[in-house]
Amino acid sequence: MNFTEPDHIRQLRDTLERFVEKEMPRAAAAQWDKNNHFPRDVFDKLAGLGVLGLTVPEEYGGAGRDILATMVVIEELSRRSLAVSVPYIMGACYAGMNIVECATEEQRQALLPKVADGTLIFAYGLTEPDAGADLASVKTRAERVGDTVRINGAKRFCSGAAISDYIYALVRSGPEGERHKNLSMVMIPSTAKGVLITPIEGMGMKGAATTDVSFDDVEVPFANVIGGEGGWNKGWPMLVGPGLDVEKLEVAAIGVGIARAALDDAWAYAFERRQFGKRIASYQSIQHKLADMKTQLHAARLVLYHAAWLANEHQPCQVETSMAKLFATEVCKAVALECQTIFGAYGYVKDFDAERYVRDALLMPIIGGSSAVQRNNIFKGTLARA
Ligand SMILES: Cc1cc2nc3c(=O)[nH]c(=O)nc-3n(C[C@H](O)[C@H](O)[C@H](O)COP(=O)(O)OP(=O)(O)OC[C@H]3O[C@@H](n4cnc5c(N)ncnc54)[C@H](O)[C@@H]3O)c2cc1C
Repeated sequence: MNFTEPDHIRQLRDTLERFVEKEMPRAAAAQWDKNNHFPRDVFDKLAGLGVLGLTVPEEYGGAGRDILATMVVIEELSRRSLAVSVPYIMGACYAGMNIVECATEEQRQALLPKVADGTLIFAYGLTEPDAGADLASVKTRAERVGDTVRINGAKRFCSGAAISDYIYALVRSGPEGERHKNLSMVMIPSTAKGVLITPIEGMGMKGAATTDVSFDDVEVPFANVIGGEGGWNKGWPMLVGPGLDVEKLEVAAIGVGIARAALDDAWAYAFERRQFGKRIASYQSIQHKLADMKTQLHAARLVLYHAAWLANEHQPCQVETSMAKLFATEVCKAVALECQTIFGAYGYVKDFDAERYVRDALLMPIIGGSSAVQRNNIFKGTLARA
């Protein structure tokens, strides 16, 4: 076993660390959070590094599929701001991974160069008011009318819809009866006639604001159905295919990034803050909190990068990606909350980033399949392998 990061990954981390320090200063990240702002200019500079192409094969203008490297980018960006890391995922993963895995050759040729240069990002339109964990029960309807598809319905918690080029929507394209056999994935331009986007006020993950989206007789060309003719009514296998494994890893990587930032800040604060004439870091209770969090974070990184390595090697990884998602996001939440206690009252006010880490961290065990859903996957997946 070799746990050393390969040279290209180490170099990528160094590049990202420098990028974050230069282009994403703490004060700016705090403003993006406060104003729920997507810094498009910073995203464009990020695209200039070529990292949006880490999910895109070279023949389509990308850097070649590298899941480990993609997770490193997400982790490093998430240490500073989800207002950049989530749009990165919307480009490299939501658009890139899905087009590579599920689109027709014509769609790949037309769309993947735009993923690689950062000019194409998708918002995920999966969840609906009555469809959360049970996504196969979505009701948004898609009806084929000649060379077009007409869409009616509503999506909930569609994050980043207002900054996206397309809403990548799970729609019911056939009769209600067979839950999994009549679903399709359609790219709906977020500016199309009949699309209404309404912000939802959430606690965290600012920048890629989450929204309600309604579709009122929205018409898109049939060419926008992912997979074309072959993809009509074949949306479910697309949703639960290899892209889902990577989606779990994306959230795990955000979690590791937030937890690292929280622990770094708490560690530094413990050596600055003095009470009773001593640095609080000299108290054993604080030392033990820091030691426990460092250990949890180390374990979360190992489980994340082991699962990412399996995914990169195209090995079966449904159980491992669920374990990574479950463990890393629960660690993220626990670490963010514990770091807040080290900051004491200052962990509760906006002058420090500790309170933002908590708001962002609380979301991670919910999105991309809740912790309960991951536990279901781990149990069922393990039985299936036995
Ligand atoms: C800020 C934010 C951003 C989001 N962004 C997006 C997005 O971009 N695109 C998108 O499509 N969705 C998005 N979501 C939706 C998110 O993915 C869903 O909230 C999540 O899938 C859970 O659905 P639900 O909240 O409706 O919970 P429900 O499915 O109603 O579940 C409620 C509770 O029951 C538990 N539960 C449900 N089913 C089971 C089961 N079978 N076994 C055990 N426990 C179960 C859950 O774990 C949870 O604790 C976002 C949500 C938020 C809050």
